Amino acid sequence: MIPPAVHVLGPGWRDDAWERLAGPWDVLVVGGGISGAGVARRAARAGLRVVLVEQRDLAWGTSSRSSKLVHGGLRYLREGQVGIVRDSVRERERLLQTAPGLVDELGFLMPTYRGTSPGRWTYTAGLEVYDALAGRRTHRRVRRTELELLAPRLRASGLTGGFRYADAQTDDARLTFRVAMDAVAAGAAVLTYAVAEDVLRDGAGRVIGARIRDALDAGRAVDVHATATVSATGAWADQLRGRLGADPRIRPLRGSHLVFPAWRFPVAQAVNVIHPADGRPVFAFPWEGVTLVGTTDVDHAGDLDVEPRISPAEAAYLVEAMAAAFPALDLHPEDAMASFAGVRPVIGTGRADPSKESRDHAAWDEHGLLTLTGGKLTTFDVLAREALRAIGPRFAGRTAVGAPEMDRPVDAVPAPRLVELGPGARDLPADDLRRLAGRYGRATSSLLDAAGEPGGREILERIPGTASTWAEVRWAARAEGVVHLEDLLLRRVRLGLTLPQGGAAVLDRVRAIAQPELGWSDARWDAEEAAYRALWASDYAPPAREDSPPAREDADDERPPAGVDIGSSTVRVR
Ligand SMILES: Cc1cc2nc3c(=O)[nH]c(=O)nc-3n(C[C@H](O)[C@H](O)[C@H](O)COP(=O)(O)OP(=O)(O)OC[C@H]3O[C@@H](n4cnc5c(N)ncnc54)[C@H](O)[C@@H]3O)c2cc1C
Repeated sequence: MIPPAVHVLGPGWRDDAWERLAGPWDVLVVGGGISGAGVARRAARAGLRVVLVEQRDLAWGTSSRSSKLVHGGLRYLREGQVGIVRDSVRERERLLQTAPGLVDELGFLMPTYRGTSPGRWTYTAGLEVYDALAGRRTHRRVRRTELELLAPRLRASGLTGGFRYADAQTDDARLTFRVAMDAVAAGAAVLTYAVAEDVLRDGAGRVIGARIRDALDAGRAVDVHATATVSATGAWADQLRGRLGADPRIRPLRGSHLVFPAWRFPVAQAVNVIHPADGRPVFAFPWEGVTLVGTTDVDHAGDLDVEPRISPAEAAYLVEAMAAAFPALDLHPEDAMASFAGVRPVIGTGRADPSKESRDHAAWDEHGLLTLTGGKLTTFDVLAREALRAIGPRFAGRTAVGAPEMDRPVDAVPAPRLVELGPGARDLPADDLRRLAGRYGRATSSLLDAAGEPGGREILERIPGTASTWAEVRWAARAEGVVHLEDLLLRRVRLGLTLPQGGAAVLDRVRAIAQPELGWSDARWDAEEAAYRALWASDYAPPAREDSPPAREDADDERPPAGVDIGSSTVRVR
């Protein structure tokens, strides 16, 4: 049994949400990425009646496709974006304190080479400022001999030593889910696979809500009225703005990553290398038992409603950087196990070099529609505070919105203490427990209880080759609003990124655990599994070998996509 204090998206939650959808609401949030979740959480905690709608799954957009770093972005200092770096490192410090097990420190190494730039003094100056902005000293110089121990396969010729400093990393989709569930706990309603297809306007032309269509049942649509409508639609922001006649302002920039098995590309902490071709920093870092390499920064010409994917040129670019830095590893694109790509919602200023565009966020009020876009995963709460300040006057005198206390940081729900977790917790290694408590917050004890049900003990074991436990599969299927199998495998438990072939070898076990929880027939499961495998092969597989044609032509090639069409319409209807 799930205690009433634990809020879940269990059986029937979508139908319940549809019944309540028409409102009226105080705040309608469109977009279930980290920005929308953050706004919903702040607004609900301020006592407002909030509903959040997402056209696909929570975090389906950019918020599951980032580099998963909670960081200031050292490189932005070089570009003079001091304000962004300051806000980011402060948010990083706050998240490290409030969400251990979900946001954790990660060491970064920056090797220096004789006669190359940036040189030692540039790094020293940058890191001094970086640490000063965070109010915590994390960096130190590392001698060559120590660096060779910390990153054994680094190119040795010309190596003079380097620097080590600390940033943090997370699971971006889980962070989004955690914040969204905090919003639910504070009273917000959440509805996924629900598209805001148009804005509603009053006689004076002011936005008073949006028309929401069910992505799973195209015949179902509702006019949702709200005092404030917030579009937290990231890279899609121009679509709703366009309904108001506003000119497009977003420059969609794609960033892609390769995922290597840790045995093929072992790194104990992040390594920041300078790309030999263009001087951009490229990272390799450990994450959830694999090694991620990223990222690129290229204009994305593809349809935003089609899953983005890495192009062969991007894969070659990333491998070129790593091959130069780690020649002994003899890396090739086909050594990767998986890939993923996301689209940055960058506010375009017309600069030729995408990497020179500012990563700052924007909040535009156009005819009463508040659009929030740009920014970073790390600074989601900065954006949320700004949103609440902007809409606050519409609720004058009613709530704490706009009052000074609304501007204070909101803690994530503190991780439960061991004694609160019941007997299921006692046998778990401390690291696993910390990880679960960070990711599941208040729901951790229910997750452990579920694992303790008949046949459950062994499901507290880790899924081989990953940092996740089988118990998380059961909990996600039971209580985390899974609508399609891809929601479970790509965003709740990230087997699609961390296991070969998207986790094909464990799908039978996943089915045994999840199918009864989801209540799917065999035919439904088979269809979901086929759709997931096709999606993975098309958009998450490692890049094709150069001698074989790609699974799907890259969107930028302006050739039509081929293969199984499971994501090319505005929404998928099954
Ligand atoms: C490659 C890459 C690496 C990055 N790395 C980092 C990093 O390491 N650290 C960091 O801090 N930041 C990073 N970022 C930036 C960060 O990921 C984004 O700033 C952040 O995820 C944006 O969140 P969002 O909620 O604004 O947008 P999204 O996560 O894209 O959410 C918008 C949501 O709105 C939904 N939506 C759109 N239109 C509608 C509609 N009409 N109706 C209903 N729903 C709709 C979409 O489906 C989507 O889910 C990275 C970005 C990229 C691309």
